[in-house]
Amino acid sequence: MRDNQTFTLIKPDVVSDGHLGEIVQSIQDAGFKIIAIKLTRLSRVEAMDFYGVHKEKPFFGKLIDFMISGPIVPMILEKENAIEDFRQLIGATNPALAEKGTIREKFGTSITKNAIHGSDSIDNAEIEGSFYFSKRELFV
Ligand code: GDP
Repeated sequence: MRDNQTFTLIKPDVVSDGHLGEIVQSIQDAGFKIIAIKLTRLSRVEAMDFYGVHKEKPFFGKLIDFMISGPIVPMILEKENAIEDFRQLIGATNPALAEKGTIREKFGTSITKNAIHGSDSIDNAEIEGSFYFSKRELFV
């Protein structure tokens, strides 16, 4: 991945609520180019690995149950200043506190069911992107 790229993951609530197309459109309308995208599902072991950094947190079990509850859509996106601009587009972790017009404010229904993930650094985007996509899928 390049430093003008970020990783995102559309969570199971969005896919089951039928808002996937709308969110993909709003990401593109904000100027992000889709470099890689797939519809997939996580096993419990994979979800525990992906969210391993939170394994001691009280919400870990709830987060894992939610993340394996249905299909998800990971993506690699490209734009100038991708990491920061994307975090701004999605809003705060808790949808109740997210700025008006952000994706989490519009589509998130709780701090667990908060619609979408966005990487918080280039290093994490690289780690998270390679969790879901092979080198061939990233065209490197
Ligand atoms: P993010 O970078 O904004 O997604 O936030 P984090 O990396 O801190 O947390 C990862 C995910 O864990 C969040 O997107 C939420 O789905 C969930 N999460 C984080 N903090 C809490 C919390 O205090 N309670 C609950 N129930 N879930 C949380």
